[in-house]
Amino acid sequence: MPSRKYADGEVVMGRWPGSVLYYEVQVTSYDDVAHLYTVKYKDGTELALKESDIRSQSSFKHRKSQSSSSSPSRRSSSRSRSRSRSPGRPAKGRRRSASQSREHKDDKKKTIQETSLALVVVVLFKPSENNTKRYNGEPESTEKNDTSCVILEQKLKPDLEVKRVLEQYSLRSRKDDKKKEEIYSEKKTLVAVKPIEKVPTKTKELEFGGRIGTFMLLFLLPATVCYLLLMCKQDDPSLLNVPPLPALESLWEGRVFGVFLLWFFLQAVFYLLPIGKVVEGLPLSNGRKLQYRINGFYAFIFTAAAIGALLYFQFELHYLYDHFMQFAVSAAVFSLALSIYLYIRSLKAPEEELAPGGNSGYFIYDFFTGHELNPRIGNFDLKYFCELRPGLIGWVVINLAMLLAEMKIHNLSVPSLSMILVNGFQLLYVVDALWNEEAVLTTMDITHDGFGFMLAFGDLVWVPFVYSLQAFYLVGHPTTITWPVAAAITVLNCVGYYIFRSANSQKNNFRRNPADPKLANLKFIPTATGKGLLVTGWWGFVRHPNYLGDIIMALAWSLPCGFNHILPYFYVIYFICLLVHREARDEHHCKQKYGLAWERYCQRVPYRIFPYIY
Ligand code: NDP
Repeated sequence: MPSRKYADGEVVMGRWPGSVLYYEVQVTSYDDVAHLYTVKYKDGTELALKESDIRSQSSFKHRKSQSSSSSPSRRSSSRSRSRSRSPGRPAKGRRRSASQSREHKDDKKKTIQETSLALVVVVLFKPSENNTKRYNGEPESTEKNDTSCVILEQKLKPDLEVKRVLEQYSLRSRKDDKKKEEIYSEKKTLVAVKPIEKVPTKTKELEFGGRIGTFMLLFLLPATVCYLLLMCKQDDPSLLNVPPLPALESLWEGRVFGVFLLWFFLQAVFYLLPIGKVVEGLPLSNGRKLQYRINGFYAFIFTAAAIGALLYFQFELHYLYDHFMQFAVSAAVFSLALSIYLYIRSLKAPEEELAPGGNSGYFIYDFFTGHELNPRIGNFDLKYFCELRPGLIGWVVINLAMLLAEMKIHNLSVPSLSMILVNGFQLLYVVDALWNEEAVLTTMDITHDGFGFMLAFGDLVWVPFVYSLQAFYLVGHPTTITWPVAAAITVLNCVGYYIFRSANSQKNNFRRNPADPKLANLKFIPTATGKGLLVTGWWGFVRHPNYLGDIIMALAWSLPCGFNHILPYFYVIYFICLLVHREARDEHHCKQKYGLAWERYCQRVPYRIFPYIY
């Protein structure tokens, strides 16, 4: 029976279950019946490890000195030293069979890989004397924002749920370990200092209610838009006052569709203008980074100039109001056609270019969620373009049309205070999004979701036609608010905006440059992917502070419409549902990405969106 080799309190290197990586751990106890050491990782995780999965720190340091040599013989000598600690090692001098020696060679190769991987981790974690001194066994492994990252082959790491890992790990036999390692070493990708994202595989966990849910959403989303717009046109838009169905022919007009196409292609021309800086997106699964031109704000300025010119030449912008439903139908038809095109082209896309969330193999599901991650025609990125241009800029143009329609219909020389607030708040939101266009590159829409019906319809129909509901409502249902009420609503909007903007900027800057001196006061939990999770600042307040700010603003947009009907509150109600669902999706992805580090983060920051509530 092997005697215990490592003492309680000793700092050693422990293998991370299911991987070939070693991290600094502290031995806390030893179970001499099961022959398992309980060790504590720097992030506070406690696991039971076999002795064969623990190595002394000196063995790593020793190898580090040798790693500069590329000589395999030298490496293998280092290997033999390390193996001498393994209970599985054959006795010295014992003759090996051919297969045994092959196995041994493979084993050697594998361990060399292990060692070099571990070295990278060790070097980047700076676990030597300094760190050893710093190690205090506290679960809170937050680090000041001054360290670089750890790395590993993300794609090999399964969902790290502590219990599962513990169970698997304690029960797995050495033989199973070996098999698994062999598989790992075959699949192994070289670790790099930069984080490596997951290589897309088949989407197993279906969201949005799976195939049935997405099939229903294909009809439900357009029906909801129709319903809301019809309701808004009614004198009494109470929920129980269901509007009559419009005649089909009244929904379509070729000229309106022509105007919509003109709008779309005008925005495409603005997008293609060679002005504005070109930036790189986050690394894709293959490590490549796409380039994006940041000129959304210029597009907005050009659009404003074009609209100004139209108004100067007496173009009746309330044409939009008069044909609002037809515009919505045109946009819906266009987004459907675009989604069909996107799906067909995605069938020819290489596997690595498919979206992690839209590759289930089920037609409806992939069609809805988007099969291809970044569909491009040459350099023209269709998803990125639709995300912020035609729909978002279209939203403020629609709002302006509503403002003019209100003045015309009600014979006003100036718009109502409610209309000014709604227009002003939403203009700020859109201008902010375009001014901070680069930030969209780190959002889920760009990094995770494919481009399919969900985003095409969302960007081109839902955003411009549903988000402008308050302004549309105010045209038909004038609401008077007093100046103090207007001031209070403005303060609310400013608070929401402040939270939203500072939270998004904090995370975006941290993701772009974790070493940014402006962020030096923030603490973060290091994760195995190399990215950190902020635990102070806004992201230490709740887990999605940007959603909180967004929801506060959504409320401020509805309040100017008064309390006569719930219809103008549709946006804030829907938005809470959307963000709660989105938060759950994001949470799920983060748990998969960051495993235990995410769990630690959740412990540190228990509330998701609303402090002390949710
Ligand atoms: P977020 O900008 O909230 O990004 C979530 C990602 O942030 C996570 O996946 C993770 O990605 C990273 N992250 C999470 N926690 C931390 C942390 N503690 N420290 C550092 N990084 C962390 O996601 P969205 O794309 O959903 O939202 C972007 C903005 O768009 C929000 O303000 C939202 O309100 C708004 N929005 C607006 C909508 C609208 O219709 N008006 C619709 C949807 C969103 P990783 O670690 O991989 O970087």
